[in-house]
Amino acid sequence: MSARLPHSVDPWRLAGQGGVISGEVPLDALQRVADLLLQRSGNVEFDFRFSKDDNGRILIDGLVRADLVIQCQRCLEAMTLVVDASPQLAVIETAAEADRIPEACDPVFAEAGSLSIVDLIEDELLLAIPQVPMHAESDCEVDLASISDPPPEQSENEAKTENPFAALSALRTEREN
Ligand SMILES: [Zn+2]
Repeated sequence: MSARLPHSVDPWRLAGQGGVISGEVPLDALQRVADLLLQRSGNVEFDFRFSKDDNGRILIDGLVRADLVIQCQRCLEAMTLVVDASPQLAVIETAAEADRIPEACDPVFAEAGSLSIVDLIEDELLLAIPQVPMHAESDCEVDLASISDPPPEQSENEAKTENPFAALSALRTEREN
């Protein structure tokens, strides 16, 4: 992967050059997202293509792909969320401009003439994570059909360290034994 991700870019300059910012960034480097993950290994693939429309509006045609390991809120075990987002963005500098961008686009705010690529990637991943993530019913540990079966042991149980209550109950079990 390319070693350095440009944190801020000038979207006007990039659009003038038909610029593309693409590469991979480790999930670990995305602070706002990493906190929600059970596993921070792995990368996010991204590709942002900058162009200018007939009205001089800067548009960004994006791709953001990642496998996120998050916690199922029903069984509290890990689940993998495959993110494959293709954001269509229009750069704005004032809130009022948001009403004037093409309908198919979402506004993205360029502060002081620059855009943070890390913010763009984080925003897409955060949008992709449901408020209450849950396995499909057939994949979930909490299933009426299998509720009498004990859950399988996990060797790397990061889920439990992330959840204070689960960690507490694990502690209690240890003491009882
Ligand atoms: Zn589940």
